[in-house]
Parts: sequence; structure tokens; C-alpha cells
Amino acid sequence: MAADHDRMEEAVAAYALDACDDDDERERVRAHVAGCPGCRALLERLAPAVEALPLAADEVRPPDLLRARILAAAAAQRQAPAGRDEPAPRIVPLPVRGGRPVAGRGRRRAVAAGAAAVAACALVALAGWNVALQRQLDAAPARFDMAGTGTLAGASGTVHGVARAGGSCR
Ligand SMILES: [Zn+2]
Repeated sequence: MAADHDRMEEAVAAYALDACDDDDERERVRAHVAGCPGCRALLERLAPAVEALPLAADEVRPPDLLRARILAAAAAQRQAPAGRDEPAPRIVPLPVRGGRPVAGRGRRRAVAAGAAAVAACALVALAGWNVALQRQLDAAPARFDMAGTGTLAGASGTVHGVARAGGSCR
């Protein structure tokens, strides 16, 4: 039951990032959050971080070869004669303010989608790490039985692994 709710909290994080797998999951999380004060509080705590994620991403200069290809494609599209049946251009100049492009809704969405993808990958990695750590905790501790020889014949003892320090002697 608690594990189910832990999974729901992970789904709430995905919901906050608009990274649910599908509409069903999105609706399931929305309905749960509506009736669960804890998850509603979690969603409210995540909101500022979700809003800040796109702003935290540094602008990255594309590799020269990619940049050249993009500019060449844009130039080719600009030179193409505009026919009536031609689709709208896919490269739209961004509004510029103070020498820097102003983040438009589409750009923010793209950055948010990228941030959501990174966050989702991080979530999966953390979940995997959590499973690995749980397995380590569940593994039986090391145990060593010892028996004396020579003048210590008849003595025996047991040493347990470091994770559970302790032992017993007879
Ligand atoms: Zn809940």
C-alpha cells in the first residue's frame, strides 16, 4: 500500500513536469491529487522548481557543422519561391530584445520538454539506484564460523558482516 503511494508520488513528479506516459496516467494522477492532501502539497512544492527548470538551462552553441546545416536549410527555404500550396516555413525568427532572443512560448515549451526528459531520466536512474540499495539491505549479512585448533581446540565463534557489527563466542 505504501509502495503504491510512493509510486503515486513519483507519478505526481512526472505530472508536475507534464511528463506522464499517457492521458490515462495524467487523469489518474489528477484524480488522486484532488483527493490526497499529501500529494497536493507535493505538487505545490514542485511547482516553483518546474517553473524554474527552463530558466536554469544554459544556452548551448550547436556544433559548427550542425549550425552550418541549419543556416543552410534556412537560407534555402528563404530562397525557395513561395507557392500557394507550400507549407508554412518551419523556421520562424524569434523576437529579439536587447540582443538576445526573447523566449517565446514554443521555445519555453521545448526547453520545458527537454528539462522534463532530463528529469524523467534522473527519476528512472534514482529509482534504479533505490532498488539496488534495497537489494543490498535485503541481502543476508556475511557470517563466518570459526573453530579453534591446537591449544584452542574446542573454542568456536561466529563473526557477522560489517553492516551488522556483532558476534558471539562459545
Ligand atoms: Zn497521495
